[in-house]
Amino acid sequence: KAHGRGRHKFFAPSMDEPIRAREAAERDLRAAIEAGDQLSVAYQPQYSAITGEIVGAEALVRWQHPERGQMPPAAFIPIAEETGLIEPLGEWVMAEACKAAKDWPIQTISINVSPVQLRNPHFGYRAIGIISDAGIDPARVELEITETALIDSATQFAVNLRLLRAFGIRIALDDFGTGYSSFSHLREFEVDRVKIDRTFVDKISVDAGGSALIRAIIDLARSTGLQTTAEGVETDEQKSFLQDIGCNELQGFFMAYPMPASEIGKLLEGKSSP
Ligand code: C2E
Ligand code: CA
Ligand code: CA
Ligand code: CA
Repeated sequence: KAHGRGRHKFFAPSMDEPIRAREAAERDLRAAIEAGDQLSVAYQPQYSAITGEIVGAEALVRWQHPERGQMPPAAFIPIAEETGLIEPLGEWVMAEACKAAKDWPIQTISINVSPVQLRNPHFGYRAIGIISDAGIDPARVELEITETALIDSATQFAVNLRLLRAFGIRIALDDFGTGYSSFSHLREFEVDRVKIDRTFVDKISVDAGGSALIRAIIDLARSTGLQTTAEGVETDEQKSFLQDIGCNELQGFFMAYPMPASEIGKLLEGKSSP
């Protein structure tokens, strides 16, 4: 970087590199989706704040790249969204998660849905098809959507949402509090739950204002009849505070990391259905 002015052109060839890396990532991801064996789903338990029992699990996609190893979703979900690969990928995750959770003694399986998927007018029907094929009660399936989806594609989203809800599927607003005018969206679109973003959980006890803010979010959500889940719970203190202020469910590394299906299956052995 310490080169002088006028040498700019020498950097031109390397400017292609991010593009080539992206093309390679797209090609590899496409192959991974077709082959299936590099992809898996990890499940992070969700706990009742009252009983401490596991009541749900969030499905999180994992990609073991043959050369580059474990790829974080943050590195490939955006590529999948830009290329449209998020549709087959998201549908694969949904099918896997519904089949895996069908016989688990938990109420809910939570599945992330990209705004790109929600923009497709056929999404609602396809999701219903996948859930029916898996044989799981649709009332046990919760789709996690972000506020971006509501803003980007409000009309199409509303059509899909109505259909999904008519089928009994539940909707959670993910990363709640990070977007714009979140509470107005809660009124506009019927959702069942808000997942309070971990940036708010991080602020608990850092300062009184941080604790007051999360308390206000939970009070407001409750007064609207919504369930609340706090994500990113990392300390005992955060857990206790969230229990005290009436948050319904807790999720985070303090209780459990995302784990393979076989592991959560073992963890749930002997548990009775909620
Ligand atoms: P998200 O939906 O907000 O998922 C929660 C993320 O927070 C997960 O990261 C999880 O491992 C992490 N997490 C859980 N507890 C804690 C904690 O206590 N502390 C911290 N620091 N992190 C915690 P992950 O698995 O890397 O996923 C990142 C994001 O990628 C997800 O954020 C979601 O937006 C996206 N994603 C993952 N799987 C899928 C998928 O199947 N479809 C779509 N569309 N997006 C997905
Ligand atoms: Ca999520
Ligand atoms: Ca989230
Ligand atoms: Ca997120």
